[in-house]
Amino acid sequence: MRPDYECQLEFRHNGPHGALGQQCDEIEWWVRWTLRASTVDQVTACPGVRDQPDDPQDDETCLLFEGHPGRHSFDLGQW
Ligand SMILES: [Zn+2]
Ligand SMILES: [Zn+2]
Repeated sequence: MRPDYECQLEFRHNGPHGALGQQCDEIEWWVRWTLRASTVDQVTACPGVRDQPDDPQDDETCLLFEGHPGRHSFDLGQW
C-alpha cells in the first residue's frame, strides 16, 4: 500500500488516491488506492489545458487522468 504523500491529486480530494504508474506513448497506467485496496488501471490522460500560462515554464496540460477528482495538476499549488 502506498503512503498518502505519493498521491498526485489535490489534497483532501474525494475517492481513492492516485499516482502515475507507467506511461508509454498515449497509454497511462495509474495506481489508485484506498486504505483497504489498490488497483492499477489503464486511463486516458486528462484533457485539461491551462488557458493562459502565467509562467511559460510551467506545464500547460494536466498530468492527471481523465475524470480525476479535485483540480487539474497545473492548478495545484495555487491555493
Ligand atoms: Zn490522494
Ligand atoms: Zn485534469
